[in-house]
Amino acid sequence: MFARAVIDSLEFARTEQTLEGNVPVPDLARLRDSLHDALGRVDVVVRGGKDAQRRPILRVDVAGELHLECQRCLGRLDFPLRLSNSLLLASQAEADSGAFDDMEADWIVASPELDLMALVEDEIILSLPYAPRHAEGQCEQGGARDRDDGGASPFAKLAALKRDDH
Ligand SMILES: [Zn+2]
Repeated sequence: MFARAVIDSLEFARTEQTLEGNVPVPDLARLRDSLHDALGRVDVVVRGGKDAQRRPILRVDVAGELHLECQRCLGRLDFPLRLSNSLLLASQAEADSGAFDDMEADWIVASPELDLMALVEDEIILSLPYAPRHAEGQCEQGGARDRDDGGASPFAKLAALKRDDH
């Protein structure tokens, strides 16, 4: 299914094909470093078509939930993934000419052997927050940072001293 989906991108767009399926999160290998755990799966739909100027596009929709790692407490942060992006298919010549560089739309170089998994991974990685964090006050108590003495707050040390007094 999706794991080894390779398409001829221009043909896929011209014939307005659709490919949908779900991808187990562990298969998204390049996301691993950003994840707290690799549970779950994401639903993916890729549609070929044309934009308003009749240029070939791929529309990528991804929905699911990822378990990111909070950068403050290192706890699990449930991140609802909802991305929807249209990608213009540029020829290699167009890409080399720089004609697409200052365009607002996202674009990729059209390929007769486009690896959809890699494309979907790219799109997901671009949509992730740079430094994911729980909302203020929502961090896990006793998270990894709290257990680490080097990261203990002065207040925690103060509390420990007070306990020693009794
Ligand atoms: Zn947190």
